[in-house]
Amino acid sequence: MNELLAAYRYTTNNYAQIEKSKRCGCCNCVQIFKPDAIVGWTGLTVQNMDDPKAINEQTAMCPHCGSEAVIGDGCGFLITPDFLSRMNEAWFQRTMIHRPAAKK
Ligand SMILES: [Zn+2]
Repeated sequence: MNELLAAYRYTTNNYAQIEKSKRCGCCNCVQIFKPDAIVGWTGLTVQNMDDPKAINEQTAMCPHCGSEAVIGDGCGFLITPDFLSRMNEAWFQRTMIHRPAAKK
């Protein structure tokens, strides 16, 4: 598997991974920031907000653009502008893959 696609797994349900990261980046707006900068998380509901597993599976939202496309260096990838711009390209490629096939 392409390493960039492998890295995509870390952009969702990544609360625990971002907690142990020193540096995070966004694959959508290509900004680099500290984990402390993240204020928005998705995934918790009134039903599971006390569940430690659910807390660890929250998904970070980018503090700059609000996308659920945040990756932290806690996952083993080095977060650099170059890495993020390659992730950004793959992000758009993935979006294209998910588009319905054009009619012939
Ligand atoms: Zn962003």
